[in-house]
Amino acid sequence: MSISSHSLVIDLHCHAAGIGAGASGCYVNPRLLRSYKFGFYLRAFGVTRRELAESGDTLVLDRIAAGIAASTAVDRAVVLALDGVVDAHGRLDTDRTELLVPDAFVADGAARHPELLFGASIHPRRRDALERLDHAHERGAVLLKWLPAIQDFDPADRRLIPFYRRLAQLGLPLLTHTGPEHSFTRARNEVSDPERLRLPLSEGVTVIAAHAATCGAYEGEPGPKRLARLMRTYPTLYADLSALTLANRIGQLPALLATPEFDGRLLFGTDYPLIAMRALSSPWPALFRLGFRTTRTLAAISNPWDRDVALNRALGVGHDILESSAVLLGLPPVTGVRARHQTTAGLRPST
Ligand SMILES: [Zn+2]
Repeated sequence: MSISSHSLVIDLHCHAAGIGAGASGCYVNPRLLRSYKFGFYLRAFGVTRRELAESGDTLVLDRIAAGIAASTAVDRAVVLALDGVVDAHGRLDTDRTELLVPDAFVADGAARHPELLFGASIHPRRRDALERLDHAHERGAVLLKWLPAIQDFDPADRRLIPFYRRLAQLGLPLLTHTGPEHSFTRARNEVSDPERLRLPLSEGVTVIAAHAATCGAYEGEPGPKRLARLMRTYPTLYADLSALTLANRIGQLPALLATPEFDGRLLFGTDYPLIAMRALSSPWPALFRLGFRTTRTLAAISNPWDRDVALNRALGVGHDILESSAVLLGLPPVTGVRARHQTTAGLRPST
């Protein structure tokens, strides 16, 4: 414990979902609803379809808030809305939309729970995209989230310039998916190339490349390498570490931490609910790096956020990175006794 001023630890990348229960406005395409992936997804949120039908989708947000409140390592989570696909007239295309989590649903949840922050999502080709952006800002959005490969647009599209200028004006960071996407039934992966982010960056937008473009290669070049080159040119480019502790990406974390361009540009996020899926979030794939005792201790932590922070710490992620999201979002430091991160004390790689 130490008495000092410190920043809150914020999970910058936390998903929500719903089935439309309780007039939440959430939408799931029947195709995805039938897919085995959606059942896994709901289970990771700690809810069942039946519970949602009975209590309403807000239960998902209540459970996330309870998980954060119970966490000793994470103070707040930015819960991300997810806009759908729009047609050529800028109207929602429900047939091509797989999953929609409306801004209002998340904003209301954040208003109800002090543990939650509002991450808005607005398709930039909506007819009323700028009005929606202003409205999200008024409702306290701390960032804007995109998944271009699913929402079906290209961040390099020059028609988006007015949207980028408004984002920059409002000071809202843009958190956008980079690297391949596997959580949905189909994806247009070429638009997740970090090089497509030059346009918002040149318009002065603060951009956060979700997952640091890991697992992807574009024109034969690994995503993180492309991202590192952009970091040299654009000081407002960041990357989040969400999903980097999952079994399929965990091998890439040490290389990211060792890349000088990423120094001071990495932000903590989890990609919840994926960190709650035991098969994906187990520390055992890192056994050789962590050693048996540490791995076993980590595997026994039940709160998914606490487990993920402990795993990040054991893999070399420093407090500066854990506290970086709060700094970027402009949330003031807090002064007092820091009793947090106790579960992670003494966890170091055994080498
Ligand atoms: Zn995500």
